[in-house]
Amino acid sequence: MIFLDTVAGMPYAQMPLNDQLERTGAYLLESISGPFEIAGVPITVEAAVGVAHTGLPGMDSLDALMVAADTAMYAAKRDRTRVEVWSPAIASTASADLGLQTELRGAIADGQLVVHYQPLVDARTREIVSLEALVRWEHPRRGLLPPGAFVPQAESSDIIHLLTERVLADAVAQAARWHHGGWTVPVAVNLAAPVLTSDRIVHTIRRLLADSGLPPYALIVEITESAVMTRPEQSAARLQAIRDLGVRIAMDDFGTGYTSLALLSRLPLDELKLDRTFVMRVHEPHERVIVEAVTRMAGQLGLTSVAEGVEDEQTALTLAGIGVDLLQGYHFSRPVPAGELTPALART
Ligand code: C2E
Ligand code: MG
Ligand code: MG
Repeated sequence: MIFLDTVAGMPYAQMPLNDQLERTGAYLLESISGPFEIAGVPITVEAAVGVAHTGLPGMDSLDALMVAADTAMYAAKRDRTRVEVWSPAIASTASADLGLQTELRGAIADGQLVVHYQPLVDARTREIVSLEALVRWEHPRRGLLPPGAFVPQAESSDIIHLLTERVLADAVAQAARWHHGGWTVPVAVNLAAPVLTSDRIVHTIRRLLADSGLPPYALIVEITESAVMTRPEQSAARLQAIRDLGVRIAMDDFGTGYTSLALLSRLPLDELKLDRTFVMRVHEPHERVIVEAVTRMAGQLGLTSVAEGVEDEQTALTLAGIGVDLLQGYHFSRPVPAGELTPALART
């Protein structure tokens, strides 16, 4: 039972219906958000609420209501608004997403996804230490699309598994070609949250390594804080299974999510990638303090520290001075097709 008497000075019952529903949704979310302590680790819950009601057009059956509420919930997740009440506009965005998903499924089968590689360099020697694999879609009409234009839509369906398997297969095959050619450069692949909810990813990685002959230490997987926070215990176990194969694990975009520091020390991690938003502002005294603290913490936890989004020499020098291990950013190279890197690797 929810009691909402007055909200912002206005009696709840006098508010417009949509406002009432949004307030109720927000109240529910707040009630379940935590933090709850599980095995000594404070866990916060991220959820989304979709609402449909019989006053809306076309809501003349229980099925119609359920579909509309589900569609609204996906919109709330996607747009990070947390609560959405169904409307015809939401339905049309959902059908646009559905169209893109159908097209993407075909594109993966047709080999329209390509992988570009961006170097991570040693902060002191500037030598290439590893590469990050970043997916692009060579769209027949729209040109080369960045991952932001299709990965989020893939994440809300099973297409994310197909996409991840495609990128992993390409990246492992490319790393194996470099390895067999005498350049062993570890390649990092990004894993989205839904991929960590099934054992399929562990089997895929094991099979790809066995088939290609790539040594496991030449593969890194990158996960984000939110990917782990979805189901921390389950994700930690799955990451451990991946790490047991000999693959290394990097925490991506660190500092933008809600990871508790306790969780950080419990996850099987090798690398900590400090998000670009901190790196960009490292010249401001307060931001510098954060970068220094995270770098020191990474070192003490035995993790390699990485700064993402290094765009100029001054930033690179500052970060090297702070003691960050690896640097990644446009200052060294944009993500490029594998062919453009082969001569660079040959020189190192
Ligand atoms: P990310 O994993 O944090 O990757 C780094 C992003 O920062 C890349 O954007 C890269 O091009 C960009 N970047 C690198 N250096 C600089 C710089 O100096 N300045 C600026 N402004 N940006 C820089 P991109 O390629 O657009 O990828 C965006 C995100 O999409 C990635 O962020 C990652 O979360 C996701 N993504 C990319 N490929 C995949 C994939 O194969 N699977 C999944 N699940 N996600 C992917
Ligand atoms: Mg990444
Ligand atoms: Mg990142």
